[in-house]
Amino acid sequence: MKITIIGTGYVGLVSGTCFAEFGVTVTCVDKDKEKIGKLKKGIIPIFEPGLDELVKKNISEKRLYFNTDLEKSLKEADIIFIAVGTPSRRGDGHADLSYVFSVAKEIGKRLNKYAVIVNKSTVPIGTGKKVYEIIKKINPKLKFDVASNPEFLREGSAINDFMRPDRVVIGCDSDKAKNLLGELYRPLYLLETPIIFTKRETAELIKYAANSFLATKITFINEISDLCEKVGANVSDVSIGIGLDGRIGKKFLHPGPGYGGSCFPKDTLALVKTAQDKNSPLKLVEHVVQSNLNRKKMIYKRVLKMLSKLKKKNKVISILGLTFKPNTDDMRDSPSLNLVPSLIKNNCKLKLYDPEGMKEAKTYFKKYSNYIKWCNDSYEACEKSDALVILTEWNQFRALDLIKLKKILNHPIIIDLRNIYNPKELQELGFDYDSIGRPI
Ligand code: NAD
Repeated sequence: MKITIIGTGYVGLVSGTCFAEFGVTVTCVDKDKEKIGKLKKGIIPIFEPGLDELVKKNISEKRLYFNTDLEKSLKEADIIFIAVGTPSRRGDGHADLSYVFSVAKEIGKRLNKYAVIVNKSTVPIGTGKKVYEIIKKINPKLKFDVASNPEFLREGSAINDFMRPDRVVIGCDSDKAKNLLGELYRPLYLLETPIIFTKRETAELIKYAANSFLATKITFINEISDLCEKVGANVSDVSIGIGLDGRIGKKFLHPGPGYGGSCFPKDTLALVKTAQDKNSPLKLVEHVVQSNLNRKKMIYKRVLKMLSKLKKKNKVISILGLTFKPNTDDMRDSPSLNLVPSLIKNNCKLKLYDPEGMKEAKTYFKKYSNYIKWCNDSYEACEKSDALVILTEWNQFRALDLIKLKKILNHPIIIDLRNIYNPKELQELGFDYDSIGRPI
């Protein structure tokens, strides 16, 4: 079987590489010539644990190819995946489908034999139908099917998520397409992965419903953590106490500075917009979106409050972790995009460090470069700072040498926005320690 993936970003590159690992011949296409040039040489444009080796292995075993030439890449494809971005559309928050539709037009112009076209991008309900109509209009004689196969991988553990998913969702109404996609995912049958076949619209909705539910869980525990601070309860114990209930589950019950990343913020918003358009508003998700935006916007106040004890005017603050979560270099909608500018606007100078996100972060914070010192490690970042903020829970921040930290910081203030340290221990060591929902 031969497949083509259009869009070689986080999802396209990981899925393409993993399909190649299943034994299929894969061509990953992208319009970004520099990216494809690098990939051909085995240089990976993103940080994703384990991806580097897997790409190189599948290139050398001649199952994984990269190309910018769409026409050539479509020639022998049995299945064509669309894996381009669907960011929030400026102004109204709907998913911007211009990349998806432009790919559909390209396919319509260039495809000249049967293939299944699959939306792997996260797209609103009804997009599969629109993609079908676009191709049909351009090429009325072409025989093809359009399916939906949303992707649930998480950056940072993307390969494992793709190779051992909780489930695969395939939405399509044609038996031929179902059989082809079933054949593609056959290696997962061996692991007894549930493969769920649905209507195309249902598959499209499953993806948005899943992300909105997870975002709701995070927002719920964030709001509970606020209440914990008011009433002297401990949110970590609340999470355990409710999470052990099988109906609730332990995951996604960690309070923090608000969810970010390339999916939850835009997908929750897009679902809200679709529901409003269909006159079936999702008030719960609307609240989640607003609550999370407020949280990210206001988190700087927590930092300033801790610093208010210091008389100094221009404070220097260290921030460890800039990406929206550990094990990725992805900065999209990261809480750091709110925190960094807000602190700078409040006369702070910043010392920043992230294990993998520095290159990306430097592009996002270019206009603040006069106020930022980029550091090479955690300790350099903390040297002579007035406070330390832990913003992303990278493993290497979990076991910092606290005695050393106390010596090198100007003031032993730590604001731990991921609750990775023990409040009692930090207090005993003489730190002025703040964490989320765990009053000392
Ligand atoms: P990305 O921005 O990392 O990658 C998109 C790629 O598509 C880019 O390399 C871009 O150059 C390319 N592209 C755009 N238009 C093109 C065209 N006409 N021809 C060829 N290439 C083109 O995006 P991503 O994070 O991989 O997300 C892709 C989709 O998958 C989105 O809908 C997203 O919501 C969804 N998704 C993402 C994740 C994730 O963790 N990143 C997880 C699940 C689902």
